[in-house]
Amino acid sequence: MAIERTLSIIKPDATARNITGKINAVFEDNGLRVVAQKRLWLSKKQAEQFYAVHAERSFFGELTDYMVSGPVVVQVLEGESAITKNREVMGATNPANADEGTIRALFGQNVQENSVHGSDSPENAAIEISFFFAQTEIVG
Ligand code: ADP
Ligand code: MG
Repeated sequence: MAIERTLSIIKPDATARNITGKINAVFEDNGLRVVAQKRLWLSKKQAEQFYAVHAERSFFGELTDYMVSGPVVVQVLEGESAITKNREVMGATNPANADEGTIRALFGQNVQENSVHGSDSPENAAIEISFFFAQTEIVG
């Protein structure tokens, strides 16, 4: 077990409903600390770069349109096994399959508008954190 950092995004469906504080409360209740945070409106190019791994998926165009449909809150979360922990706290991609009490079960609307993104591996966490934050902006 080790203290890790992971990249989280509160997505446009959640900023539209003014529930960023409710989502942060779930992180904090589960031992994750918000050690960096900023609100951004992504460009289409940024969204395409961020989700480049999904470029071949059928939903790529829809996904990147959705991610630029409103503001997002990008964050670094820190805690014990933060990468895995955050994936647990988020719940399954499709809110219909997400465990009770997870962010996607509580707040997600459908498989696309599922309120949060979280890095899925230590390698991707490092890449995704540096996509949005300078080291000096992360204060643990
Ligand atoms: P996760 O966010 O759980 O890691 P993926 O990496 O598979 O899920 O997908 C990235 C994002 O793409 C999802 O969070 C969701 O917003 C969107 N997405 C995934 N699957 C679909 C789908 N079948 N239709 C539309 N959007 C999808
Ligand atoms: Mg993913």
